[in-house]
Amino acid sequence: MSSSYLKTKCNRCGEPKVSYNADKSALVCSNCKHVEPLPKNKDSINELKLGEGFDMKLMDQGLEGKFKGAVCMNCGAFVATSLDTVWESCPFCAHPEAEPFRGKINTIRPAEILPFNYPKARAVALFQKWARGLFAPASLIQAAREPHVKGIYIPFWNFEVMTRSSWKAVQLVDGGKGKKSKQPVQGYFAHFFDDLRLFASHQIDPHSWDAMGSYPLEKAVVYDSKYLEGMHTEIVQQEFNSVLKVAEKQLEKMIRTQITEKSKGKSLQNLAVRSEKQLLDAKLLLLPVWVATYDQDENLSQVLINGFSGEMHAERPYSMIKVALGVLVAVLGLIGFIILLNKTL
Ligand SMILES: [Zn+2]
Ligand SMILES: [Zn+2]
Repeated sequence: MSSSYLKTKCNRCGEPKVSYNADKSALVCSNCKHVEPLPKNKDSINELKLGEGFDMKLMDQGLEGKFKGAVCMNCGAFVATSLDTVWESCPFCAHPEAEPFRGKINTIRPAEILPFNYPKARAVALFQKWARGLFAPASLIQAAREPHVKGIYIPFWNFEVMTRSSWKAVQLVDGGKGKKSKQPVQGYFAHFFDDLRLFASHQIDPHSWDAMGSYPLEKAVVYDSKYLEGMHTEIVQQEFNSVLKVAEKQLEKMIRTQITEKSKGKSLQNLAVRSEKQLLDAKLLLLPVWVATYDQDENLSQVLINGFSGEMHAERPYSMIKVALGVLVAVLGLIGFIILLNKTL
Protein backbone atom coordinates (compact mmCIF):
# COMPACT_ATOMS: atom_id res chain seq x y z
CA MET A 1 0.00 0.00 0.00
CA SER A 2 1.05 3.54 -0.53
CA SER A 3 2.52 5.33 2.44
CA SER A 4 0.70 8.49 1.55
CA TYR A 5 -2.14 7.88 3.93
CA LEU A 6 -2.14 10.30 6.75
CA LYS A 7 -2.84 8.21 9.80
CA THR A 8 -3.28 8.95 13.43
CA LYS A 9 -0.66 7.32 15.67
CA CYS A 10 -1.16 4.33 17.96
CA ASN A 11 -1.00 5.12 21.67
CA ARG A 12 0.98 1.97 22.37
CA CYS A 13 3.48 1.43 19.54
CA GLY A 14 3.43 4.89 17.98
CA GLU A 15 2.88 3.57 14.44
CA PRO A 16 0.37 5.42 12.24
CA LYS A 17 -1.78 2.30 11.76
CA VAL A 18 -4.91 3.13 13.71
CA SER A 19 -8.38 2.79 12.23
CA TYR A 20 -11.91 2.64 13.51
CA ASN A 21 -13.49 -0.78 14.01
CA ALA A 22 -17.27 -0.55 14.07
CA ASP A 23 -17.81 -4.05 15.55
CA LYS A 24 -15.68 -3.23 18.55
CA SER A 25 -16.63 0.49 18.71
CA ALA A 26 -12.94 1.07 19.19
CA LEU A 27 -9.78 2.30 17.53
CA VAL A 28 -7.63 -0.66 16.55
CA CYS A 29 -3.94 -0.65 15.62
CA SER A 30 -3.11 -3.02 12.75
CA ASN A 31 0.53 -3.11 13.84
CA CYS A 32 0.41 -4.13 17.52
CA LYS A 33 -3.34 -4.99 17.72
CA HIS A 34 -3.84 -2.47 20.49
CA VAL A 35 -7.54 -1.80 21.05
CA GLU A 36 -8.56 1.57 22.38
CA PRO A 37 -12.26 1.56 23.24
CA LEU A 38 -14.13 4.80 22.77
CA PRO A 39 -16.10 6.04 25.75
CA LYS A 40 -19.78 5.23 25.34
CA ASN A 41 -21.10 8.35 27.01
CA LYS A 42 -20.43 12.01 27.19
CA ASP A 43 -17.86 11.76 29.95
CA SER A 44 -14.54 13.30 29.11
CA ILE A 45 -15.40 14.96 25.82
CA ASN A 46 -12.55 17.29 25.12
CA GLU A 47 -13.34 19.85 22.55
CA LEU A 48 -10.93 18.86 19.80
CA LYS A 49 -10.35 20.63 16.52
CA LEU A 50 -10.04 18.54 13.42
CA GLY A 51 -6.42 17.62 12.79
CA GLU A 52 -5.24 18.55 16.28
CA GLY A 53 -2.60 16.10 17.43
CA PHE A 54 -2.17 14.85 13.91
CA ASP A 55 1.36 14.36 12.59
CA MET A 56 1.55 16.32 9.34
CA LYS A 57 5.02 14.96 8.62
CA LEU A 58 3.41 11.65 7.70
CA MET A 59 2.16 13.15 4.47
CA ASP A 60 4.29 12.40 1.44
CA GLN A 61 4.92 15.20 -1.00
CA GLY A 62 5.22 15.37 -4.76
CA LEU A 63 3.76 13.36 -7.62
CA GLU A 64 6.62 10.83 -7.56
CA GLY A 65 7.32 10.68 -11.32
CA LYS A 66 8.88 13.29 -13.56
CA PHE A 67 6.42 16.10 -14.05
CA LYS A 68 6.48 19.76 -14.86
CA GLY A 69 4.07 22.44 -13.80
CA ALA A 70 2.46 25.28 -15.70
CA VAL A 71 0.20 28.12 -14.62
CA CYS A 72 -2.39 29.26 -17.17
CA MET A 73 -2.03 32.99 -17.89
CA ASN A 74 -5.76 33.37 -18.33
CA CYS A 75 -7.55 31.36 -15.62
CA GLY A 76 -4.62 30.72 -13.27
CA ALA A 77 -5.04 26.95 -13.28
CA PHE A 78 -2.01 25.14 -11.92
CA VAL A 79 -1.55 22.04 -14.04
CA ALA A 80 1.03 19.26 -14.04
CA THR A 81 1.95 17.29 -17.17
CA SER A 82 4.68 14.79 -17.95
CA LEU A 83 8.01 16.32 -19.05
CA ASP A 84 7.60 15.48 -22.73
CA THR A 85 4.13 17.01 -23.01
CA VAL A 86 4.13 20.26 -24.97
CA TRP A 87 1.70 22.88 -23.67
CA GLU A 88 -0.84 23.47 -26.43
CA SER A 89 -3.59 25.15 -24.47
CA CYS A 90 -5.11 25.24 -21.00
CA PRO A 91 -7.32 22.20 -20.40
CA PHE A 92 -9.79 24.34 -18.45
CA CYS A 93 -10.08 27.48 -20.59
CA ALA A 94 -8.27 26.70 -23.89
CA HIS A 95 -5.94 29.69 -23.45
CA PRO A 96 -2.70 29.11 -25.40
CA GLU A 97 -0.26 30.79 -22.99
CA ALA A 98 1.07 29.46 -19.73
CA GLU A 99 3.87 30.41 -17.38
CA PRO A 100 6.21 27.48 -16.75
CA PHE A 101 6.43 26.64 -13.05
CA ARG A 102 10.13 26.41 -12.17
CA GLY A 103 10.02 24.96 -8.68
CA LYS A 104 9.38 21.45 -7.42
CA ILE A 105 5.70 20.54 -7.43
CA ASN A 106 5.03 20.37 -3.71
CA THR A 107 1.58 18.94 -3.69
CA ILE A 108 0.59 16.34 -1.14
CA ARG A 109 0.96 12.99 -2.84
CA PRO A 110 -2.33 11.46 -3.97
CA ALA A 111 -3.11 8.22 -2.16
CA GLU A 112 -5.55 6.85 -4.72
CA ILE A 113 -6.56 7.40 -8.30
CA LEU A 114 -9.52 6.30 -10.38
CA PRO A 115 -7.98 5.83 -13.85
CA PHE A 116 -9.74 6.99 -17.03
CA ASN A 117 -12.12 4.34 -18.26
CA TYR A 118 -14.09 6.23 -20.93
CA PRO A 119 -11.87 6.71 -24.01
CA LYS A 120 -11.10 10.13 -25.47
CA ALA A 121 -12.50 9.28 -28.94
CA ARG A 122 -15.89 8.55 -27.42
CA ALA A 123 -15.80 11.70 -25.28
CA VAL A 124 -15.03 13.79 -28.39
CA ALA A 125 -17.81 12.09 -30.38
CA LEU A 126 -20.27 12.64 -27.53
CA PHE A 127 -19.39 16.33 -27.34
CA GLN A 128 -19.65 16.76 -31.13
CA LYS A 129 -23.06 15.11 -31.27
CA TRP A 130 -24.29 17.36 -28.47
CA ALA A 131 -22.75 20.50 -30.04
CA ARG A 132 -24.52 19.87 -33.36
CA GLY A 133 -27.90 19.53 -31.66
CA LEU A 134 -31.11 21.43 -32.36
CA PHE A 135 -30.86 25.24 -32.63
CA ALA A 136 -27.09 25.21 -32.04
CA PRO A 137 -25.48 28.65 -32.23
CA ALA A 138 -22.60 29.20 -34.66
CA SER A 139 -20.03 29.04 -31.83
CA LEU A 140 -21.09 25.47 -30.99
CA ILE A 141 -21.07 24.33 -34.60
CA GLN A 142 -17.53 25.69 -34.84
CA ALA A 143 -16.59 23.90 -31.58
CA ALA A 144 -17.96 20.64 -32.99
CA ARG A 145 -15.65 21.05 -36.00
CA GLU A 146 -12.54 21.67 -33.92
CA PRO A 147 -13.25 20.16 -30.53
CA HIS A 148 -11.05 21.17 -27.60
CA VAL A 149 -11.31 18.18 -25.28
CA LYS A 150 -8.67 17.39 -22.64
CA GLY A 151 -8.35 14.73 -19.98
CA ILE A 152 -7.76 16.04 -16.48
CA TYR A 153 -7.38 14.43 -13.09
CA ILE A 154 -9.22 16.47 -10.46
CA PRO A 155 -8.18 16.40 -6.79
CA PHE A 156 -10.44 15.50 -3.88
CA TRP A 157 -9.86 15.18 -0.18
CA ASN A 158 -11.22 12.22 1.65
CA PHE A 159 -11.40 12.09 5.43
CA GLU A 160 -12.20 9.50 8.05
CA VAL A 161 -13.23 11.14 11.29
CA MET A 162 -14.45 9.72 14.59
CA THR A 163 -16.65 12.20 16.42
CA ARG A 164 -18.15 12.25 19.90
CA SER A 165 -20.47 15.07 20.85
CA SER A 166 -22.49 16.20 23.81
CA TRP A 167 -25.38 18.53 23.18
CA LYS A 168 -27.87 20.70 24.99
CA ALA A 169 -31.05 22.27 23.73
CA VAL A 170 -34.44 23.59 24.70
CA GLN A 171 -37.52 21.62 23.72
CA LEU A 172 -41.09 22.88 23.40
CA VAL A 173 -43.42 20.58 25.36
CA ASP A 174 -47.21 20.49 25.21
CA GLY A 175 -48.37 21.38 28.74
CA GLY A 176 -52.07 20.71 28.00
CA LYS A 177 -54.87 23.22 27.40
CA GLY A 178 -52.93 24.56 24.40
CA LYS A 179 -50.08 25.77 26.57
CA LYS A 180 -46.48 25.15 25.58
CA SER A 181 -43.61 25.09 27.99
CA LYS A 182 -39.87 25.02 27.44
CA GLN A 183 -37.83 22.18 28.83
CA PRO A 184 -34.05 21.73 28.79
CA VAL A 185 -32.86 18.52 27.10
CA GLN A 186 -29.42 17.05 26.54
CA GLY A 187 -27.79 14.07 24.88
CA TYR A 188 -24.76 12.26 23.58
CA PHE A 189 -23.99 11.46 19.97
CA ALA A 190 -21.07 9.47 18.57
CA HIS A 191 -20.55 8.95 14.87
CA PHE A 192 -17.84 7.65 12.57
CA PHE A 193 -17.65 9.58 9.30
CA ASP A 194 -15.86 7.18 6.99
CA ASP A 195 -16.17 9.11 3.76
CA LEU A 196 -16.18 12.87 4.16
CA ARG A 197 -15.24 14.17 0.76
CA LEU A 198 -14.11 17.68 -0.13
CA PHE A 199 -13.87 18.91 -3.69
CA ALA A 200 -10.44 20.49 -4.10
CA SER A 201 -10.61 21.84 -7.66
CA HIS A 202 -10.37 25.58 -8.22
CA GLN A 203 -11.28 25.36 -11.89
CA ILE A 204 -14.52 23.40 -12.00
CA ASP A 205 -17.79 24.49 -10.48
CA PRO A 206 -18.77 21.93 -7.79
CA HIS A 207 -22.45 21.94 -8.85
CA SER A 208 -21.52 21.12 -12.44
CA TRP A 209 -19.28 18.38 -11.12
CA ASP A 210 -22.10 16.84 -9.10
CA ALA A 211 -24.42 17.00 -12.09
CA MET A 212 -22.06 14.69 -13.99
CA GLY A 213 -23.04 11.62 -12.00
CA SER A 214 -21.14 9.64 -9.44
CA TYR A 215 -17.78 7.92 -9.55
CA PRO A 216 -17.33 4.31 -8.34
CA LEU A 217 -14.73 5.05 -5.67
CA GLU A 218 -14.41 1.37 -4.81
CA LYS A 219 -12.68 1.02 -8.19
CA ALA A 220 -9.95 3.53 -7.26
CA VAL A 221 -6.45 2.06 -7.13
CA VAL A 222 -3.33 2.93 -5.19
CA TYR A 223 -1.77 5.99 -6.77
CA ASP A 224 0.91 5.41 -9.37
CA SER A 225 2.36 8.34 -11.32
CA LYS A 226 2.17 6.29 -14.56
CA TYR A 227 -1.56 7.00 -14.74
CA LEU A 228 -0.86 10.71 -15.14
CA GLU A 229 1.25 10.35 -18.26
CA GLY A 230 -0.28 12.02 -21.28
CA MET A 231 -2.95 13.63 -19.08
CA HIS A 232 -3.26 16.87 -17.18
CA THR A 233 -3.49 16.97 -13.41
CA GLU A 234 -4.82 19.90 -11.45
CA ILE A 235 -2.49 20.66 -8.55
CA VAL A 236 -3.93 21.55 -5.16
CA GLN A 237 -2.33 24.68 -3.82
CA GLN A 238 -4.43 24.99 -0.72
CA GLU A 239 -2.72 24.82 2.67
CA PHE A 240 -3.75 21.64 4.44
CA ASN A 241 -4.81 23.63 7.51
CA SER A 242 -7.33 25.63 5.52
CA VAL A 243 -8.68 22.40 4.02
CA LEU A 244 -9.17 21.09 7.55
CA LYS A 245 -11.09 24.22 8.51
CA VAL A 246 -13.53 23.69 5.65
CA ALA A 247 -13.91 20.01 6.59
CA GLU A 248 -14.50 20.96 10.22
CA LYS A 249 -17.34 23.32 9.29
CA GLN A 250 -18.94 20.64 7.15
CA LEU A 251 -18.65 18.09 9.97
CA GLU A 252 -20.24 20.45 12.47
CA LYS A 253 -23.17 20.96 10.13
CA MET A 254 -23.57 17.21 9.61
CA ILE A 255 -23.38 16.48 13.34
CA ARG A 256 -26.09 19.06 14.07
CA THR A 257 -28.31 17.66 11.31
CA GLN A 258 -27.94 14.12 12.64
CA ILE A 259 -28.68 15.15 16.24
CA THR A 260 -31.80 16.98 15.06
CA GLU A 261 -32.92 13.99 12.97
CA LYS A 262 -32.34 11.55 15.82
CA SER A 263 -34.46 13.57 18.21
CA LYS A 264 -37.46 12.78 15.97
CA GLY A 265 -39.61 15.84 15.75
CA LYS A 266 -38.84 17.10 19.25
CA SER A 267 -38.23 20.52 17.67
CA LEU A 268 -35.02 21.43 19.43
CA GLN A 269 -34.21 25.06 19.92
CA ASN A 270 -30.94 26.75 20.86
CA LEU A 271 -28.99 23.59 20.07
CA ALA A 272 -25.44 23.83 21.46
CA VAL A 273 -22.95 21.08 20.56
CA ARG A 274 -19.50 20.30 21.91
CA SER A 275 -17.52 17.87 19.79
CA GLU A 276 -14.35 15.89 19.85
CA LYS A 277 -13.29 15.23 16.27
CA GLN A 278 -10.50 12.80 15.80
CA LEU A 279 -9.02 12.67 12.32
CA LEU A 280 -8.11 9.05 11.59
CA ASP A 281 -7.23 9.27 7.95
CA ALA A 282 -6.82 11.98 5.36
CA LYS A 283 -5.98 11.35 1.77
CA LEU A 284 -5.93 13.05 -1.55
CA LEU A 285 -7.54 11.23 -4.45
CA LEU A 286 -7.68 11.95 -8.15
CA LEU A 287 -10.76 11.50 -10.33
CA PRO A 288 -10.85 11.63 -14.16
CA VAL A 289 -12.85 14.07 -16.27
CA TRP A 290 -12.90 15.07 -19.92
CA VAL A 291 -13.36 18.82 -20.24
CA ALA A 292 -14.57 20.27 -23.53
CA THR A 293 -14.39 24.05 -23.83
CA TYR A 294 -15.93 26.48 -26.28
CA ASP A 295 -16.63 30.20 -26.53
CA GLN A 296 -20.16 31.37 -25.98
CA ASP A 297 -20.72 35.11 -26.62
CA GLU A 298 -17.11 35.74 -25.63
CA ASN A 299 -17.56 33.79 -22.42
CA LEU A 300 -15.95 30.48 -21.82
CA SER A 301 -18.20 27.46 -21.41
CA GLN A 302 -17.20 24.03 -20.17
CA VAL A 303 -18.81 20.72 -20.92
CA LEU A 304 -17.86 17.96 -18.48
CA ILE A 305 -17.78 14.28 -19.31
CA ASN A 306 -17.28 11.78 -16.51
CA GLY A 307 -13.96 10.07 -17.30
CA PHE A 308 -15.22 6.82 -15.89
CA SER A 309 -18.85 6.46 -16.98
CA GLY A 310 -19.10 8.91 -19.87
CA GLU A 311 -22.02 10.74 -18.27
CA MET A 312 -22.12 14.31 -19.55
CA HIS A 313 -23.02 17.61 -17.95
CA ALA A 314 -23.63 20.56 -20.27
CA GLU A 315 -25.86 23.58 -20.28
CA ARG A 316 -27.25 23.98 -23.71
CA PRO A 317 -27.03 27.41 -25.35
CA TYR A 318 -29.48 28.10 -28.16
CA SER A 319 -29.21 30.38 -31.12
CA MET A 320 -32.04 32.89 -30.54
CA ILE A 321 -32.37 33.55 -34.27
CA LYS A 322 -32.74 29.82 -34.97
CA VAL A 323 -35.24 29.40 -32.17
CA ALA A 324 -37.29 32.37 -33.47
CA LEU A 325 -37.18 30.95 -37.01
CA GLY A 326 -38.18 27.55 -35.65
CA VAL A 327 -41.17 29.05 -33.83
CA LEU A 328 -42.14 31.02 -36.96
CA VAL A 329 -42.01 27.89 -39.13
CA ALA A 330 -44.13 26.02 -36.58
CA VAL A 331 -46.73 28.82 -36.42
CA LEU A 332 -46.89 29.11 -40.22
CA GLY A 333 -47.22 25.35 -40.44
CA LEU A 334 -50.11 25.41 -37.98
CA ILE A 335 -51.88 28.23 -39.86
CA GLY A 336 -51.40 26.32 -43.12
CA PHE A 337 -52.81 23.20 -41.51
CA ILE A 338 -55.89 25.06 -40.20
CA ILE A 339 -56.54 26.60 -43.65
CA LEU A 340 -56.19 23.20 -45.26
CA LEU A 341 -58.50 21.67 -42.68
CA ASN A 342 -61.16 24.36 -43.31
CA LYS A 343 -60.96 23.78 -47.08
CA THR A 344 -61.38 20.04 -46.83
CA LEU A 345 -64.31 20.23 -44.41
ZN1 LIG B 1 0.12 -0.07 17.79
ZN1 LIG C 1 -6.76 28.41 -18.24
